Amino acid sequence: VGDTVTGEHASGAGRRYDIIIVGAGVVGCAIARQLAAYDLSIAVLEKCSYVVSGQSKGNGAVIHGGHDPHPGTVKAPLNIRGNAMMRDLCASLGVTWWGCGVYVVAYDEREQGILRQLLDQASVNGVKGARIIDRDEVRRTEPNLGPAVHSALSVPSASMVDGMRLVIALAEQAAVNGVEFHFAREVTAVHVEHGAVTGVTAGGERFNAPVVINCAGVNTDLVMRMAGLEPLRIIPRIGQYWVFDRDYGMIVSRPCFQVPIPGGKGIVLHPTVHGNTVVGGDSVPVDDRTDTGTTAEGLEVVRRSISRLAPNLDYGRLIAAYCGIRSATPDGDFLIEASAEVRGLVNVAGIASPGLTAAPAIAEDVRDMVDRLLPLKERAGGLRPHRIQPVFRDMSGAEKEEALRLDPTHGTVVCRCEYVTEGDVRAALLAPLPARTLDAVKVRTRAGMGRCSGAFDLSRLLSIMSRELGVPPWTILKNDPPSSVVIGDTRPGAVDA
Ligand SMILES: Cc1cc2nc3c(=O)[nH]c(=O)nc-3n(C[C@H](O)[C@H](O)[C@H](O)COP(=O)(O)OP(=O)(O)OC[C@H]3O[C@@H](n4cnc5c(N)ncnc54)[C@H](O)[C@@H]3O)c2cc1C
Repeated sequence: VGDTVTGEHASGAGRRYDIIIVGAGVVGCAIARQLAAYDLSIAVLEKCSYVVSGQSKGNGAVIHGGHDPHPGTVKAPLNIRGNAMMRDLCASLGVTWWGCGVYVVAYDEREQGILRQLLDQASVNGVKGARIIDRDEVRRTEPNLGPAVHSALSVPSASMVDGMRLVIALAEQAAVNGVEFHFAREVTAVHVEHGAVTGVTAGGERFNAPVVINCAGVNTDLVMRMAGLEPLRIIPRIGQYWVFDRDYGMIVSRPCFQVPIPGGKGIVLHPTVHGNTVVGGDSVPVDDRTDTGTTAEGLEVVRRSISRLAPNLDYGRLIAAYCGIRSATPDGDFLIEASAEVRGLVNVAGIASPGLTAAPAIAEDVRDMVDRLLPLKERAGGLRPHRIQPVFRDMSGAEKEEALRLDPTHGTVVCRCEYVTEGDVRAALLAPLPARTLDAVKVRTRAGMGRCSGAFDLSRLLSIMSRELGVPPWTILKNDPPSSVVIGDTRPGAVDA
């Protein structure tokens, strides 16, 4: 877990890079991919054991149309540009994109007034095709919504993606283009000499670079403070979600938001690109930025809130709950700046929603900032294309035949709920950013994300990983230390590793 994974650079400590990126969420990975097109040596330092460990893991995966940000904010045009880039980006990376649109639902005339304000914002922001639709159209197009629905704002340019595989694919494309990823490297110091950044200390080791890009999510303020800056205030806000069984189906055919709540876009009932139904996304400020545990009270608030929109949800079909933490700021806007006080430090802070949507556009803007610090020269041949390895269940019949011919272990199903094969797990272990923890295999393949929450597949995953990696199962962690799931063999010598 502690070492970099991109081939020959087992440890980059002490090396000099052109650029260090702090944090491997969607923003850090999108920036890494963008900069990988240039003749640069780049290291991404991530405190956790794999990519997709922060906010980017716990979001709604909606590619927002752009009706929500206030005109004039930094985030409004980034939302619009990111939305416009997402379809082609996903196609090039082999990531699922679904042009489903969204509704924001009102229950009465007063709320319809809020929809009109949102429509005005949408129009100023440049959102195409947004309009208010009446109750009949809402009920005709979403027959499972409750009778209390009055009208809705329809935003057809919004979409959904496989958010976790998007981050992995961005990171992989960066990695195959030479970017080094160093996991388990928490940045604890930023070194500044004569007003310019010179590097960081991460995982107790020194990494040197004249440009440091701070994409540490909910910790961006801490990294700014390490550089001696007066940071913007991050007020973490959690959002909790219920997940229904895939067999229960998609209750709606697009995300259906309720009108915005303070600090959030409104509690939403949404399908996923995998076929689940999800409800949630409350927005509650918290003191502890590390605590992403769900709470019975918070989930009950979500259940009560959504009951008007979807009165007939069968809570007997729930399979999981999760919580994400937003790096919200008092003014609700993004801060994307090349620091005026510390030359070479670029801060990408306060990237709460719609940060997933905006990430590719943020990456372009950061590229332009870097160009002013360190003139960029395109690499010979440009950015090498890359597509994330598809999982067996998503392959066509012919692709399945070929995959089985190349790796017959695709014939063994490891995760029954999500239909993940042994071949998928082996592919995850061999990927450009190889999975080394159970959670890394999970975010890549969905093994353990189904109804049994891993009860069926955990022991199989452990033995496959142990065999393929040549390590005892008790050295395989769920995610970051200490998170072992087995502690040793009960019969010494029974496990061959
Ligand atoms: C509940 C919820 C719902 C959301 N829904 C949507 C949505 O539907 N659509 C949308 O567009 N956006 C949505 N968002 C927002 C979106 O998820 C975020 O804007 C986006 O993920 C931010 O990405 P990031 O890379 O900035 O942060 P993160 O994903 O948090 O990445 C930061 C990384 O930095 C690492 N790190 C932190 N400190 C250090 C350190 N000291 N050293 C090294 N590494 C460090 C962390 O481990 C983490 O991996 C939602 C967010 C939440 C929480």
